[in-house]
Amino acid sequence: MPEQTAPLLTLEGVKTYYPIRKGIFSRNAGFVKAVDGVDLTICPGETVGLVGESGCGKSTVGRSIIRLEKTSGGRILFEGEDITRLSQRQFRKLRPNIQMVFQDPYSSLNPRRTIGGMLAEVLRAHHIVPEREIDHEIDRLLGLVGMPVRSRHSYPHEFSGGQRQRISIVRALALRPKLIICDEAVSALDVSIQAQILNLLKELQAELGLAYLFISHGLGPVKYISDRIAVMYLGKIVETGTREELFSDPRHPYTKALLSCYPIPDPHKRDNPKIVLSGNVPSPVAPPSGCRFHQRCPNARPECAEREPQLRGCGHLAACHFV
Ligand code: SF4
Repeated sequence: MPEQTAPLLTLEGVKTYYPIRKGIFSRNAGFVKAVDGVDLTICPGETVGLVGESGCGKSTVGRSIIRLEKTSGGRILFEGEDITRLSQRQFRKLRPNIQMVFQDPYSSLNPRRTIGGMLAEVLRAHHIVPEREIDHEIDRLLGLVGMPVRSRHSYPHEFSGGQRQRISIVRALALRPKLIICDEAVSALDVSIQAQILNLLKELQAELGLAYLFISHGLGPVKYISDRIAVMYLGKIVETGTREELFSDPRHPYTKALLSCYPIPDPHKRDNPKIVLSGNVPSPVAPPSGCRFHQRCPNARPECAEREPQLRGCGHLAACHFV
């Protein structure tokens, strides 16, 4: 993990709500509170894992950072500058610094462009290198992600899923970003290919000093790649700490339940029983009062439904009244 430096990215109380429209006059009938007051920091060269069940709002956090979703409140600071206040033009200038890699690389690649053509377009549009150096830069980029130079002449459909994800990564790298948001970037891949992509991300980080926000519902990849991990439940972060803290000493009952389902390779450490949570994740339209987890929490007490717990602790934080 890198030494403590000024954060590259800071989220302060970020909210992303979607209005619910009803009736022929599209009356506002409430909000889906997908992200509801998220605080998070990412330092240069650091990998922060964001983990939680489907629908907890983790992908919306990533999409809100790069304005694919409009935030409803809070601040997002990139290198100290509040980017939620920037005009579209100002944000476009900053945007190459923050890139995103998605789960399905095929849908984010133009099927009618060769890989070389696509990269040349990106390099030209953002004036990354002079025109005469574009060819050389494409070869360099392909080499960075372990793709043969001849692949520049091929189309996306000619590659396997893992290779296409390498191409998505190379397209992100073309803009020389400081932060890459990986949104379920390895979730659709076979385990062996997942490992290759995760190793590639680590190598690129060591070489280029990149920071990652690694969003995933899978604990394995998050554990492998992250320096710090944040656990999300129903639009909020409920626990955050270093990878070691989170996996060896989980504090929030939700984190404990998540980890209890994570397979442990050492047979001597397999004594911990699985914690099966009752019920489903409540609706983000009308989240439960007090602690959002109280309806499913095995440790819940009456006051949990009344008072909302805040993240507490020193470094390793958990939002529970009783940790
Ligand atoms: Fe469970 Fe109460 Fe802690 Fe929430 S505050 S996690 S309901 S014990």
